[in-house]
Amino acid sequence: MKKLIIIKYGELTTKHDNINFFIKTLKDNIETSLSNTNHRIIYDVGRMFIETNDYDLVLSKLTNTFGIHEINIGYELETDDFDSLKDNLLSLVKEKEFKTFKVQTKRSNKKYPMDSMEVSRKLGAHILKNIDNISVDVNNPELLINVEIRNKKIYLYFDKIKGIGGYPVGVAGKGILMLSGGIDSPVAGYLAMKRGIRLECIYFDSPPHTSENARIKVLDLANVLSTYSGYLKVHIIRFTDIQEAIYKNCPKEYMITIMRRMMYRIAESIAHKNNAKVIINGESIGQVASQTLTSMSVINETIKMPVIRPVSCFDKIEIIDLAKKINTYDISIRPFEDCCTIFVPEHPVINPELSLAEEYEKLFDYEDLIHKAIKNETVIKIPLENKYNDLL
Ligand code: ATP
Ligand code: MG
Repeated sequence: MKKLIIIKYGELTTKHDNINFFIKTLKDNIETSLSNTNHRIIYDVGRMFIETNDYDLVLSKLTNTFGIHEINIGYELETDDFDSLKDNLLSLVKEKEFKTFKVQTKRSNKKYPMDSMEVSRKLGAHILKNIDNISVDVNNPELLINVEIRNKKIYLYFDKIKGIGGYPVGVAGKGILMLSGGIDSPVAGYLAMKRGIRLECIYFDSPPHTSENARIKVLDLANVLSTYSGYLKVHIIRFTDIQEAIYKNCPKEYMITIMRRMMYRIAESIAHKNNAKVIINGESIGQVASQTLTSMSVINETIKMPVIRPVSCFDKIEIIDLAKKINTYDISIRPFEDCCTIFVPEHPVINPELSLAEEYEKLFDYEDLIHKAIKNETVIKIPLENKYNDLL
């Protein structure tokens, strides 16, 4: 009897047309995330099995891998020896504390000489005969014994560990996440990855108005996001000149609108260069002046690429709960300003007019500044293993 981890990937199996691509991507992602662990992966139809002697580490990685819906720690047995199945199961069950139980058998091997009901009945009877003071409860058993009879082997398992679900990162293609140091954008990135989008991040940096700590904060957030995707890249764009030009040339109340129009233009250009199909950000309807529907549409006018806003309809409290769950919250609340908080006007326009935004931004040569900012980008590969200092 061999102990191993059984991986199930529910939702994928409904995608008949591209199932092979989904499974290959999931395999690649699992291999990347387990690359520093001692393990062996065995593939079978609808399942993956992992042998390891480092269960805790491997499980912690698998529970952060999108596309996995259920994980079990199980045991593998031969199909041709029912007596040994009975005895092995009994010895495993004897180690457990329970008063009621149920055996649930699934049989994908249709050539197996017994049907599922018969296997469950025989194994249940064997357990009842050998352990005192227990009974069968089919509706609400304390111990659920799962038996899977597959073509090559039989698997036994008890507890089910819920995976994080979603689609394997990469199956939906690539997106550019506008990653600030705030609470919302990392959560938006997590949700986009959950639907299979591989992320590259873009961060607008405004030294010396923003500190090195603000940049480190963003890289730390990217590092946490990479635990769900294996790796990602951060494009750091020096935004200082653009921001100062806006500050100098444009009416104060339109500063944020115009600044965000510049960010969108740069994000779209970086997306095109890196084969990304969409932009993702942490905008949430009504949260601030730049996120009213009018503001969002005036800002969005600058580009053609679709913008996905995964947290647009979440309450802040819902975003915070998710940020805590995915381990980005504590980093996001570090008190370093980013480039948006530094030039914030007292009364930003809530309902900007497109024609005015267009007129005001023509007051400086933004195309040249955008071109320079893109040319001078710094690209950082994550995870970094805390070697920031060499790269800053
Ligand atoms: P967050 O929304 O992530 O909590 P925030 O509140 O500071 O950060 P907003 O001003 O609400 O950011 O901006 C909305 C979105 O625009 C952010 O969620 C993020 O996607 C993007 N954004 C803002 N500032 C930056 C920046 N400096 N670099 C990259 N993206 C940014
Ligand atoms: Mg926000």
